[in-house]
Amino acid sequence: MELIKEMEDYALHNHVPIIRKSNLDYLINLIRENKYYNILEIGSAIAYSAINMALISEEVRVTTIERNTDMINKAKENIEKARLTERIILIKGDAFEIELNDKYDLIFIDGAKAQYKRFFSKFKGNLKDRGVIVSDNVNLLDLQRITNSKRSKRLVTKMDEYKEFLKGLEDFETEFIDIGDGFAISKLK
Ligand code: SAH
Ligand code: MG
Repeated sequence: MELIKEMEDYALHNHVPIIRKSNLDYLINLIRENKYYNILEIGSAIAYSAINMALISEEVRVTTIERNTDMINKAKENIEKARLTERIILIKGDAFEIELNDKYDLIFIDGAKAQYKRFFSKFKGNLKDRGVIVSDNVNLLDLQRITNSKRSKRLVTKMDEYKEFLKGLEDFETEFIDIGDGFAISKLK
C-alpha cells in the first residue's frame, strides 16, 4: 500500500516514533494467530500502527487515543486516506482523562514512556478475559543511543520499575520479547 510507505517516510522526516518493523511484524502475527480483533491503543501518533493493525482483517476494530493536535490531524487524514474511518476510532485527548466502558482483546501501550505503569493500571479493567496488554519500546534502545542525559536516565529507571511492576503482578503473566525495541506481553491469568 502506497500510504504505508508515505507514512514511513513522513515519520522518518518528522521524527515521529512509529513502531519498528520487527515489532510490527510480531504484533501482527500475535493479533492474527489469536484473533485479537478488538484493540485499544494508547498513543496513535500518525495512526501508522493503528492502520497496520486494522489492515490485518475486516474484523479488526481499533480504538486509538492521541493527545497531540498535530498528530491527531495527521492521524485523521491518514485514516481517511486508508478508508478505515469505520474501523478505527480516533479519540482525541489525554488517555488519563478518557473513560472507556468497552472491553478489548488487546491493549497496545505506546504513549509517554514514563507513564506506562499508569496506563497499565488505568486500562487493565478494559481487558477481556484471556486478553493481552502489549507494551512497546520497553528496551528504550532508540533513547539510549541518542543521549545519556539526566532525563533519559530517569526514563531508564522508570522503565526498569515498570518491568519489575509487571513481573510482580499476580493476575498477569508477562513475557519479555527481545526484538526490535522490545515488547512486554502481559496475559491475564
Ligand atoms: N503507536 C504509534 C506511535 C505512537 S508515538 C505507531 O507506532 O505508529 C507516541 C504517541 O503517544 C505520541 O504521539 C504522543 O503524543 C502520544 N501520547 C503520549 N502520552 C499520551 C497520553 N497520555 N494520552 C494520549 N496520547 C499520548
Ligand atoms: Mg512505540
